[in-house]
Amino acid sequence: MSDSLNLYRLQNLDTAIDQKESRLEEIEAILSNDQALRDAEKKLEKAQATAKQIRIELNQIIDKVEAQRIKRKMTQASLFSGNIKNPKALQDLQMESEALARYIAQLEDEQLMKMIAYEEAEKIEQQAEKRLEGVKIASIEENAALLGERSKLEDDLSRLRKEKAAVTQSIPQKILKLYIQLRKTKRNVAVTSVSDGGCSICGQALTPADLQSIRGASRLVFCPSCGRILYEG
Ligand SMILES: [Zn+2]
Repeated sequence: MSDSLNLYRLQNLDTAIDQKESRLEEIEAILSNDQALRDAEKKLEKAQATAKQIRIELNQIIDKVEAQRIKRKMTQASLFSGNIKNPKALQDLQMESEALARYIAQLEDEQLMKMIAYEEAEKIEQQAEKRLEGVKIASIEENAALLGERSKLEDDLSRLRKEKAAVTQSIPQKILKLYIQLRKTKRNVAVTSVSDGGCSICGQALTPADLQSIRGASRLVFCPSCGRILYEG
């Protein structure tokens, strides 16, 4: 098999691979840029953080209430122990106990408010969870076609890459290097076919001698205008 034929096959494979890779990138971008999904995820994260913060504050109040209750119990115990006889001391204790009772009542009010706030935050969190689930399902349905296309593209690419590896093996290293270099400078197309006696890409007419060389396939012939490798199928 001639080098130009192998290069032509390689070029066709590379072009197909380029197209499929570019479409695959497009699909990945669409799938990862699902705005509705991102928004729903953000909302849930925010709701979770809020609920967590309120839970922490609620626990702090619960601890405070508990500490004040213990303090009051101890005050009450000394008050009724009978060990303290001094009326002034007893009165002070009585006042302290009352002050603690007021403080505890105030803390309990705070605790109740915090509890209500926490229940509200939990509700919002559950709603956000539900919403995210709904968006995910809708997104899966919407993206089903894209996921199918992606899977087919991946299969195609794997097959094309195998074919490319096989074709590449049959091309001498020096020519392969030239091809890779040309592809870089010629917008990814290093090999062009001959049609109507001219280059099918730039339209340059070829001399009979060039056409003869191309048919003979004894050496590579380059388009005198665009510089690409010519192949006649
Ligand atoms: Zn040309």
